[in-house]
Amino acid sequence: MIPVTKPFLPPREEYNRFLDGIWERNWLTNNGPLVNELELQLKEHLGLDHLLFVSNGTIALQLAIKALGLRGEIITTPFSYVATTTSIIWEGCTPVFVDILADRLTIDPDLIEAAITPNTSAILATHVYGIPCEVERIQQIADAHGLKVIYDGAHAFGVQVKGKSVFEYGDISTCSFHATKLFHTIEGGAVFTKNSELLKKMAFLRNFGHDGFDNFNGIGVNGKNSEFHAAMGLALFPHLEAIQEKKKKQFHFYYEILTGLKVDFPKVDQIEQYNYAYFPIVFPNEVQLKKSMQMLVDNSIGSRRYFYPGLNNLDYTQGNCPVSDGISERILCLPLYHTLTIEEQRMIARILLRVQNN
Ligand SMILES: *Cc1c(COP(=O)(O)O)cnc(C)c1O
Repeated sequence: MIPVTKPFLPPREEYNRFLDGIWERNWLTNNGPLVNELELQLKEHLGLDHLLFVSNGTIALQLAIKALGLRGEIITTPFSYVATTTSIIWEGCTPVFVDILADRLTIDPDLIEAAITPNTSAILATHVYGIPCEVERIQQIADAHGLKVIYDGAHAFGVQVKGKSVFEYGDISTCSFHATKLFHTIEGGAVFTKNSELLKKMAFLRNFGHDGFDNFNGIGVNGKNSEFHAAMGLALFPHLEAIQEKKKKQFHFYYEILTGLKVDFPKVDQIEQYNYAYFPIVFPNEVQLKKSMQMLVDNSIGSRRYFYPGLNNLDYTQGNCPVSDGISERILCLPLYHTLTIEEQRMIARILLRVQNN
């Protein structure tokens, strides 16, 4: 069985070393030393100053929306994981969907302005598959209209724009460290902001509003993460470079062996530092996608329709996004993970080519 992705697990003894410390200290959660150490190492690795480790990438989005005090309408992308949309609605705001760019699959800046109303408070866009949004244009639009910007960077760990982490852009950026993501802590996530007031606010929000034992600074929620989760991130860190190197190679090898396949690949070659987290292909039509997917299943190979359906087409949403609709019907993510072999990739390519040429 070839899954579409496989979480990285460090050698047991490397994780155990962190567990020994947890048992010695008997400190399991609530801003413990491993959580602090992970936050430090993340800052160093990503080259930024301000972040908070939280319990998952969804709560990260919710904390961001809450901290910015957003109300009314939030302009957002239809092409992302469902959490991007649900976090907006969960926080009492209304998602307004703006279509995506056909080549980058990120929100189309040209269409943002037309969607702005007096009720718009922010733009929440996703660096989908780690492809960065057009961050500078989006910031210009936001500045011109007094809007806040949040980036869902769940896929964008390690991606850079203009020499800095993509998480440096926007008022707040978020990431997910879920087991299926490039860098993971089993469950986990982070919020990033250069604004120290916002960071402080999110630190209160993350911990019930606690300001010391008996004082509370506003209403909070439980967005903390544990020592065990931090330990997974710390144990993964030494392997991260090798994982990324592997995925980069696999990514380029797919390009090579799929040249005969009539599909589109998202444009990632102009990205200055990409993370090769996913390998999506866009078929000419949905029939072809379904045939290919079935043939992969028949050969015990996983693939996933990331992201289908478009988020504008859920029971509780609406929006006219023809580009996104067209792509989400035809896009499929192929297996990509650290232990995937060249032979397995070749087999996947052979099957896809066979379906096409039948
Ligand atoms: C994974 C993901 C999330 C949610 O992250 P969790 O850590 O699973 O809560 C949010 N947005 C996108 C785009 C994702 O892929």
